[in-house]
Order: sequence, then C-alpha cells, then structure tokens
Amino acid sequence: MPELPEVEGVVNSLKPVATGKTIERVTISPVLEVSRKAGKQAIIKGTELADFQQRLADAKIIRIVRRSKYIYFHLEKNQQSILLVTHLGMTGAWFYVHETHEISEEKFRKHIHVIFHLDDDMLLVYTDIRRFGEMRLLESEAQFPPLLRMAPEPFDDSALSYFLEMSKLPKYQHKSIKETIMDGQVISGCGNIYATEALYSMHIHPARKVNRISQKRLIALFHTIVAVLNESILAGGSSISDYRNINGEAGGMQDRLQMYGKKQCPNCINATKQLVLGGRNSWYCPSCQR
Ligand SMILES: [Zn+2]
Repeated sequence: MPELPEVEGVVNSLKPVATGKTIERVTISPVLEVSRKAGKQAIIKGTELADFQQRLADAKIIRIVRRSKYIYFHLEKNQQSILLVTHLGMTGAWFYVHETHEISEEKFRKHIHVIFHLDDDMLLVYTDIRRFGEMRLLESEAQFPPLLRMAPEPFDDSALSYFLEMSKLPKYQHKSIKETIMDGQVISGCGNIYATEALYSMHIHPARKVNRISQKRLIALFHTIVAVLNESILAGGSSISDYRNINGEAGGMQDRLQMYGKKQCPNCINATKQLVLGGRNSWYCPSCQR
C-alpha cells in the first residue's frame, strides 16, 4: 500500500508534467460503468460518472499537492475552483504517456480505469489493480469531513505538539503505540511499513500501551518517524508490491527496511515475531523491542 513517501514521489513526478495542462476529456473504464450499474461506486465516489466527466472536461490543472496520503488536484474551470481529491488505495498508480500501450507492465495496463486526455496530446492514466483507490470531486475539503480530521503534515512545525496532545487523550492512552501512530488523526501519513521501522529503531514493542511510554521517548519516536519518512522519500519510496512512480519505476526503500517483512532481526539475529494490531500485521523483535 502506498504510504506518504510513495505518494510524495507520485506528486513530485506529476507536478512538472501535469501542472498548467488542461484536461480536454475523461475516459472511464467499462469496469467502473458496470460497478455503477450494480449500485457500487468503485474509485469514483459521490458523483455520477457522466457528471464527473463533464465537470472535468476543459478544467485546467493549477496545482498538485500531497496532503497526508491524498493527492489534491486544484483545478479551475470557468473561473471556478474545483478540488479533485484522489487516494491510491492499495494499488493505484498514475502514468503520463502518449498511448496506454507505453505502460510497460501488463498488470497495470490491464487495469486502466480513468484517463485524462490532456491538451498537450498526452494521457494522464490512472490504473488500479484492486480498485481501492478513490477520486472525489469537491468544492472544498469541508465537503469530505475525514480530510478535516487529518493531523498536520508530519514535517509541519505544529505536528509534534499535535501528536503529544492527541496521545494524551484517553482514547489513545490505552491503545497500542503502533495503532496510535498509524492513526491519521494523530500523525499524518505513517502507515504500517514506517510505523514498523520507527518502532524497531526505537526498540519499542508495537503492542506497548501509549501510557507506558515516557513523553521523552514519545518525542524521540516522533522524530524517528519523520526521519524514516524522509529517508524513504529520498530513496523514492518502498515498492513492496505494486507501487510505481509515474514513469513506471519502483522505489528503493524496500532494500533499506530493517524489520518490515523480515524473518530475522538484523541487530541480534533472533527470529522476528508477528502480531496483528488494528488488523495490520506487525513485525517486531522480541528481544530488541520491549
Ligand atoms: Zn533483535
């Protein structure tokens, strides 16, 4: 699943090619049409498909920004602002190509769901193997309340004090530290991979309750999370399964992970253990993490 560093990589590669371009028209896959007829809303949420296509036609891409794990396309049409909020879900990917056959890997090419035909005769193609991705056309963030509940960006000055304040709430005090740091209302954009890595680096057991960790260690943990996220951004993200940047390239962070998915602790050579926290698999070293 793409986490913050992977989404950052997608946004950084989208910006130079898509900013300032106008979407001439939008093509939607037959699979999404069929899903709609069955009463479901695969990928495109809250808008009729024809309406989605019509509202985006002739809209100009003004700005593309990452907010937590979301990608915001700020658009303008007839002097009106439109916000397209997208999420890659488990397996979403964007490609910028002349023709769809340029997408080299078949698993992506077979799952093309939305195509923006741009005015530079290029295509901005959204593929999604498992279809857990999302696209929402909004007038503002307020129209989709989960966006307003997100913690500040982890790199913002306010993020640390926000994290400490949230972790003092009764609802988090008795929760495991792993579930707490993976909660987007506490820290933005720290998913399973980076939570696992940060806890391992800090020698903190993932199931340890928040109220059993000193403020000093919580502060150090926060800085470790930010450092791990930054390291991954620089490495181009982690390509655990289906993450690709818009040029179809995998990231390099997966080779630097110490604990996520590992059978053996690189520090003490003991076998790692796994437990499920908040529905997510957690790897840890029973001797190094307490
Ligand atoms: Zn160990």
